Amino acid sequence: QPVIGVLAVQGDVREHLRALESVGAKAVPVRRASELAQVQGMVLPGGESTTMDKLLRIFELQAPMRERIAGGMPVYGSCAGMILLADRIMDGQVDQQTLGGLDITVRRNAFGRQVDSFEENLPFAVLRDGEEHPYRAIFIRAPWVEAVGPSVDVLASVTTGPAAGRVVAVRQGVLLATSFHPEMTGDDRVHEYFADMVRRRAG
Ligand code: GLN
Repeated sequence: QPVIGVLAVQGDVREHLRALESVGAKAVPVRRASELAQVQGMVLPGGESTTMDKLLRIFELQAPMRERIAGGMPVYGSCAGMILLADRIMDGQVDQQTLGGLDITVRRNAFGRQVDSFEENLPFAVLRDGEEHPYRAIFIRAPWVEAVGPSVDVLASVTTGPAAGRVVAVRQGVLLATSFHPEMTGDDRVHEYFADMVRRRAG
């Protein structure tokens, strides 16, 4: 049973803990470096990336998180968590920092203010039954992936409407990110996919 931490400085921590437990992982909230040291993988939840960036520094988790990422720990970032994993941000705040590791450029609040939140069925082939059953994704003031480096796999894109073609799920090695919030739907296949990544990595 892999032990997976959820960054617990802001955002919908409880829902991620529930989703991870439901796919057979042991899930623990992480607020300090000593707790980070106990886990084999991490989830960075949605919230507000500028606030989470500041809190990571205040809680003295920024440097240890960067070290673990450099050391090959699997990390899954959702929404604001995707922004935290990105090497480059567009429409970020002045001074906004990320943890980085994922060779992507994300655009914050990319879908526009008039579409604060929306739902969309996404083809997401790598998930269990993903070919037959699309994933119903909830987007809340979400970023999209503006550009990806050569070692990044695109896992899902928007298929309809004005944002059709926009990339909303990516993976590079043991780093996974989605623009949307899979902890809110009760469809735990994204967490299942990530827990499998952690299991494989842990051997
Ligand atoms: N717009 C937020 C940000 O820039 C992300 C929103 C979310 O995580 N739901 O951090």
